[in-house]
Amino acid sequence: MLIRKRPMTTEPPPNERPGTVKKVERAAPRVGFVSLGCPKALVDSERILTRLRSEGYEVSPDYDRADVVVVNTCGFLDSAKEESLEAIGEAIAENGQVIVTGCLGVEEARIREEHPGVLAVTGPHQYEQVVEAVHDAVPPRHDPYVDLVPAEGLRLTPRHYAYLKISEGCNNRCSFCIIPGLRGDLASRPANHVLHEAERLVNAGVKELLVISQDTSAYGLDIKYAESKWHDRQVRARFLDLCQELGSLGAWVRLHYVYPYPHVDEVIPLMAEGKILPYMDIPFQHASPKVLKAMRRPAHQEKTLDRIRSWRQTCPELALRSTFIVGFPGETNEDFEMLLDWLREARLNRVGCFKYEPVDGAKANDLPGAVDEDVKEERWHRFMALQQEVSRDVLAEKVGRSIEVIIDEVDEEGALGRSKWDAPEIDGSVFLNGDTGVKAGEIVRAKVLHADEYDLWAER
Ligand code: SF4
Repeated sequence: MLIRKRPMTTEPPPNERPGTVKKVERAAPRVGFVSLGCPKALVDSERILTRLRSEGYEVSPDYDRADVVVVNTCGFLDSAKEESLEAIGEAIAENGQVIVTGCLGVEEARIREEHPGVLAVTGPHQYEQVVEAVHDAVPPRHDPYVDLVPAEGLRLTPRHYAYLKISEGCNNRCSFCIIPGLRGDLASRPANHVLHEAERLVNAGVKELLVISQDTSAYGLDIKYAESKWHDRQVRARFLDLCQELGSLGAWVRLHYVYPYPHVDEVIPLMAEGKILPYMDIPFQHASPKVLKAMRRPAHQEKTLDRIRSWRQTCPELALRSTFIVGFPGETNEDFEMLLDWLREARLNRVGCFKYEPVDGAKANDLPGAVDEDVKEERWHRFMALQQEVSRDVLAEKVGRSIEVIIDEVDEEGALGRSKWDAPEIDGSVFLNGDTGVKAGEIVRAKVLHADEYDLWAER
């Protein structure tokens, strides 16, 4: 078994190579690496180091010059475990900033009991987690002259807005959906990872952050709302805390895929104060309790109309977007009429509606009471016609008001933008006909002159 108990260097730092001039300022953050254990662990160390070097980290030959030290441990024999614990202790005493990985990492409690000061503990082969822990301790430095990829990453959206994914997967098991089977249970990103990314995006010129996930309001549940260090403070991985922090970055923050769990009420005051956009995309899917139950929807037991009323009392500007399914197995005329009544009452700003279709592997396929295609079609048309009326009325109330518009496109005929109540791609537009004096990404004030059932027309 190969055991090394000293910082492992693959090469001297560039500013100490013979013939190079010693720089006064550090070119990049430095990682010290102690690699213990067998050749498999050594290969893990090489992979981690390769990744860190490719991100611009330098490898420190000693503890003093390292910004953080990674100890790759061995957990094979008791003697190897002891040696690993000793190595962790030595790194803490010499440097203080220590991340533990490798086989002993599976005994996190033991490591933390003996060395409570370690920054993070990960197990064997958890390359991503080790690298993320290094990022948390010492963020990589972006060098615009050398890096092939911009600091904010490569994006397919226009420069002024960006999607920000806060978690992957979903703990719910809606009967019509196969996403949890494809993507697994909820896996939230640590709050500081999300915030670092959001900050990089805003620094790169993004004016609007679109928060997405499968279940945004469940954020942090799987990681027990763990705190992580963001600038000089600890931030909890909680829906409210994340919204507060994102709201401090100076960009529009728009929330998508929010389920109306009770704690969602807590973010409405942030919307009323203008910290985040007064907008929520909540896929209600239906209004009949019987259908919602058959759909196995999360939070279906909440009295959503009462909730909506109270949200609007706190934040009268709140815009709600939603999606619905008509023709779900077992949906009766009565259920459908209940949905229409609910829609009239709820006065949602934007609504999408789908005719139910079976998806391979979904539990709903086994439900009795399939609805005929022509009935689905008729219900869909009635639903959409009603929502058009609602939407026309809601938008008519904006006429005469001065509103903020984020500009998406400008051509020789004028500018096209969106209000705070409209997400890109899925909602309506604000047309500034003949206005060519603005640029994409600018946020301007304009007076609404006209509205139809989808869009607004305004002038500055
Ligand atoms: S539809 Fe239901 S199960 Fe599917 S991703 Fe959304 S909340 Fe999760």
